Amino acid sequence: MDYETVIGLEVHAQLLTRSKMFCACSAEYQNAPPNTHVCPVCLGMPGVLPVINQRAVEYTVMTGLALNCSVNLHSKFDRKNYPYPDLMKGYQISQYDQPLCVGGWLQIEVDGHEKRAGITRVHLEEDTAKLTHRLTQVETYSLVDVNRSGVPLMEIVGEPDLRSPEEARQYLIKLRRILQYIGVSTGNMEEGSFRCDANISLRPRGSQELGAKVEVKNMNSFRAVFRALEFEEQRQRQLLDAGQRIPQETRGWVEELGETVSQRSKEFAHDYRYFPEPDLTPMECAP
Ligand SMILES: [Zn+2]
Repeated sequence: MDYETVIGLEVHAQLLTRSKMFCACSAEYQNAPPNTHVCPVCLGMPGVLPVINQRAVEYTVMTGLALNCSVNLHSKFDRKNYPYPDLMKGYQISQYDQPLCVGGWLQIEVDGHEKRAGITRVHLEEDTAKLTHRLTQVETYSLVDVNRSGVPLMEIVGEPDLRSPEEARQYLIKLRRILQYIGVSTGNMEEGSFRCDANISLRPRGSQELGAKVEVKNMNSFRAVFRALEFEEQRQRQLLDAGQRIPQETRGWVEELGETVSQRSKEFAHDYRYFPEPDLTPMECAP
């Protein structure tokens, strides 16, 4: 059967601010010894209060404008609750139903054809700590570096408008170039300042319905994104041709194997119990 590939990208970009999102710690933590850029706020100590980094808000609005988005004049932060060792407070301050920017587009060119890919939203949140998993002959353990915790992180969610791995690659190249040009992010993928998760599904050509989507993570170069999506396209096509169902799941790209492997099932949506962040006032942007 002839299938159409449907791809949507979620990009996380660290913002080039001097301090972190909600405290005065330096956000320039690359190359710093572990756990040296920390304070009670980004360590998630009880009783501390976050303060919004104005420059991070400005950078997010600039990005929204560069991506042809509307800027929400009323915006707020929300708590996204989930327990994980890299999340110091047990919740992440993010934006849920009132993100800073919505409804834009990015112009890309593939094989001489111009195309507009929709941007669903651009919102602001805080990065998590970094975990390093170690495996020795006698034990396995994980190390936590809190330097990254609280670094301003912008999430750019794209519409499922991309139709090939090459379109996805062009989208990322263009998006990174824009962020670098307006000076809001280094866009360095190897250092993790610019990260991409991809949703990919296949559907019979002509169908309007979306197939079960697979989320692919762990890609830290444009080439890895391209290869992972090509692999996924082929894997899903083979399953569909064999009359099998594609399970909705998260898969990780393994560079050495050149393939994606199942990480967790997504049959049940996460319940993040979002609610408005009570320690921060809503934001009003002057038009
Ligand atoms: Zn701090």
